Amino acid sequence: MITGAGDGPRPRRGEAVPTPAERRRAARSRQPLFGERAEVDEVRRLRRLQAGERLRRQARRAMIGDGLAIGIDIGGTKVAAGVVDAQGRVVARARRDTPTRSPQAVEDLIAELVAELSAHHDVVSVGIGAAGFVDATRSTVVFSPHLAWRDEPLREAVEMRVRARLGRRVGRRTLVENDANAAAWAEYRFGAGRGEPRLVVITLGTGIGGAVVNDGRLQRGRHGIAGEFGHMVLVPGGRRCECGGRGCWEQYASGNSIGRDGRELARGGSPFAHALLAGAGGDPEAVRGPVVTAAALAGDPAAVEVVEDTGRWLGTGIANLAAALDPGTFVIGGGVSDAGELLLGPAREEFRRTLTGRGHRPEARIVRARLGPDAGLVGAADLSRGWG
Ligand SMILES: [Zn+2]
Repeated sequence: MITGAGDGPRPRRGEAVPTPAERRRAARSRQPLFGERAEVDEVRRLRRLQAGERLRRQARRAMIGDGLAIGIDIGGTKVAAGVVDAQGRVVARARRDTPTRSPQAVEDLIAELVAELSAHHDVVSVGIGAAGFVDATRSTVVFSPHLAWRDEPLREAVEMRVRARLGRRVGRRTLVENDANAAAWAEYRFGAGRGEPRLVVITLGTGIGGAVVNDGRLQRGRHGIAGEFGHMVLVPGGRRCECGGRGCWEQYASGNSIGRDGRELARGGSPFAHALLAGAGGDPEAVRGPVVTAAALAGDPAAVEVVEDTGRWLGTGIANLAAALDPGTFVIGGGVSDAGELLLGPAREEFRRTLTGRGHRPEARIVRARLGPDAGLVGAADLSRGWG
């Protein structure tokens, strides 16, 4: 065992007591900074951390149980809900259009879905995934761009409405989680990131969502709002972004940016844009991301070019994230990932070309997510059971 300064052997009676400087020198000579013994120490430290984490998880799980949980994913157009078992399987489902009237209408709908699903299943907890900033206590949506929620105490609002409907509460706790965190957690527990303790999940939808899992924990940041990768500036002074900035990553590598590139081609009357126009019913303004992706998968050269360009931008951003976080795997999910290798091939190439210290470091894997559109509700349900 390596002892630190101050832990040296106790001096015998009559022996000269070493000065503090001598003790520090002696301690330094016994403590290699690098090399085999330091590595052994690091492994021991990690094992102790993991053992502590296991105990905390066991305590949480003992409190809440490992039973069925309800997961709810609030999307811009649909609210998807499901009953999820401990293996991440969805055993019952319900789905509605997202009400656009008011935040309260959305809360009423969530309570309705919880009541409906809990009528036939005994559930231990409820998890709600919402786009936007969720506070560190995971009860309040601080800001949601699409749903007009501002400091909305969503957990309380939903629990109150469920009690009003059923005359009882459902499950032992209700949890609110950022939707990208929820989806990432599902991929970590049951999908493409299973068994990878250092994981980054990037969700390519209309924008870019992201989340980091480190040693089996979601990294939420000091204020609960980490992982907004889509607004890292990749091109100073570049394309305008809804966030008010310019040159954000999601302006170059998202469903919206693919749609915009597709429309540009179609508007210009390019002879190469024939398939894009056909997919949008002849109207260049109706070209959206999914139209471009479908045309690319069908082999249309113009659409393939747009998707490949997007893949390269994706790779550049991933290289930046690798420089900051050094994960073992990047999992790419969201609707845009339907393009598969058409997107991921160029992303890997560009990642390797841009990576800091390339050729002198192990490289992260870049893989496609596995759980598809269920990831958000599965992750929210699982997190509500006391994980993550
Ligand atoms: Zn932005």
